[in-house]
Amino acid sequence: MAATHAFWLAGRQVTGEDSFDVTSPWDGRVVGTVSVPTDAQIEGAVAAAYAVRDEFAATPAHVRAAALDHVSRRLVERTEEIARLISAENGKPMKWARGEVGRAVSVFRFAAEEARRFNGGEAQRLDTDLGGQGRLAFTRRFPKGVVLGIAPFNFPLNLCAHKIAPAIAAGAPIILKPAPATPLSGLIIGDLLAETELPAGSWSILPVPNDKMPALVQDERLPVISFTGSEKVGYAIMDSVPRKHCTLELGGNGAAVVLADFASDEDLDWAATRIATFSNYQGGQSCISVQRVIADASVYERLLPRIVAAVENQVTGDPNDDATDVGPLVSEDAAKRVETWVDEAVAAGAALVTGGKRDGASYAPTVLTDVPADVTLSCEEVFGPVLTVQKVDGEAAAFAAVNESKYGLQAGVFTHDLQTAFRAHRALEVGGVVVGDVPSYRADQMPYGGVKQSGVGREGVKFAMDDYTYERVMVLTGI
Ligand code: NAD
Repeated sequence: MAATHAFWLAGRQVTGEDSFDVTSPWDGRVVGTVSVPTDAQIEGAVAAAYAVRDEFAATPAHVRAAALDHVSRRLVERTEEIARLISAENGKPMKWARGEVGRAVSVFRFAAEEARRFNGGEAQRLDTDLGGQGRLAFTRRFPKGVVLGIAPFNFPLNLCAHKIAPAIAAGAPIILKPAPATPLSGLIIGDLLAETELPAGSWSILPVPNDKMPALVQDERLPVISFTGSEKVGYAIMDSVPRKHCTLELGGNGAAVVLADFASDEDLDWAATRIATFSNYQGGQSCISVQRVIADASVYERLLPRIVAAVENQVTGDPNDDATDVGPLVSEDAAKRVETWVDEAVAAGAALVTGGKRDGASYAPTVLTDVPADVTLSCEEVFGPVLTVQKVDGEAAAFAAVNESKYGLQAGVFTHDLQTAFRAHRALEVGGVVVGDVPSYRADQMPYGGVKQSGVGREGVKFAMDDYTYERVMVLTGI
């Protein structure tokens, strides 16, 4: 019998009237039963957050930083247990689940550091123009208000950390809503925050059902929405509240470009290994996993077999096994969708080089070439362990191919040439260019986010804090 998990309402553990089961995508077992907040409890969390906003903004930085440091340390202590939980509810192999806990450790640590640095205030002399004599402008940042954080299933701990840690660091109360498939990893952050001295009401973690979310999104006491998830849901939210501040971290179809100068055996081995690993990590369910390889014609014939060999080398199977590279997708439905898209591409003339098989929620690591530009696989985010490899002539064609996408999250460019790297940085319509590696590299302190349909705004601890706050100027006269 799996344990029933309470949720966190204004810093206290509470249960509602209804509940739902969280099941493992690997073996279908019930991992936990999660209690769902009632309408009155949701209202209680919002009212508490709204009421505490001034007090929380005024809570000394050292108190908020100490709380964030505490969560970071406790995550280290509980790494193995929390990684097991992530793996159980998400299907993520243990090696990646441990890595995710490690990243959340860093996010809370960065947030503690930023809390100590943030909002020191900046002075600007105004006597540089007429009328400014004897005046000084002084700016500090203040929270915009309560943040509504909405998280996806694919990094169920770390993407919750990316919402809640910067909010605490900035002194903004937050209502965090984890994904329905993976709420347990988000709720566990509450276990650790409850051990701190943060004011009651400054944080709640509520597994609100999707059909109750529109009312929460509309609530005027929540002026900031930080959403990570699909393009469809993200833009629907933003369109429904055009006057709110929305950060949208959405999908992508990450491209890895391999250029003509990246041509030695060592170069191609490195590129192929990185591409194979990061098209398949967490079953390809990462917004920056490699979906497209764009290879210069001069390296294509030597690169493709290396990629195929490295993809076939990925160990698939039980996520509990330390050796497993690729586990199941989040659900059988997700694997069926990937299967449909690959089948559609093959029916339209694409060549299936390896993979292409589904077993329940698991989909085999797959490589295709000659994929027509108009099939779903070429146009949408696959969010599965599927890679398309495309041959192009020269750098300009490669960069144009990257930009032939409605998405623009990150791109990887394998080159040794500094000038080429700078040209890529100028030419590519993405939020981040990773030179010498795949697009899947993300450091949690750096600015992260997309352009085009990949979203609006930036995360990365300091950048999220900027989003949650605004600059208020004070003009001093007669000094
Ligand atoms: P999703 O859009 O289905 O769900 C995301 C969250 O939105 C969940 O918590 C869900 O319960 C909630 N939600 C659903 N309907 C809602 C509504 N009407 N109002 C408010 N909230 C609602 O996404 P998902 O399947 O959980 O995650 C996968 C997607 O997330 C992929 O597209 C992936 O690329 C994207 N993603 C983006 C980033 C990034 O940083 N850019 C990172 C990870 C994942």
